[in-house]
Amino acid sequence: MSIWDSVKPAQKRFNATNVVLSSDGRTLTLTWSDGGSSTLTARRLRQYCPCAGCVEEWSGVRTFDVESIPAETRVLEVSPVGNYALAFTFGDAHRTGIFQWAYLKELAA
Ligand SMILES: [Zn+2]
Repeated sequence: MSIWDSVKPAQKRFNATNVVLSSDGRTLTLTWSDGGSSTLTARRLRQYCPCAGCVEEWSGVRTFDVESIPAETRVLEVSPVGNYALAFTFGDAHRTGIFQWAYLKELAA
């Protein structure tokens, strides 16, 4: 064990151990390694996509009105990004967002 192990906080405190997309693509359920689970709607994920196309880099301002995202938004595909995040392909073909575990947990809270 090096000195850095005691100085630096652990980078990855938790991750999802299971990710289930409902058959209609509207709900994502995540089971966390630190216990508990979170459920997110596809609409919420699309509304809060963190990609550069959806959030202005400088201001952090969202480039669209979250209310404009339709209720029937679906996730077509869930892809793991390394072991730290998930990427989604939405029904509107948007797929550039990378959702880190902590962000997903925050969105579900
Ligand atoms: Zn986006």
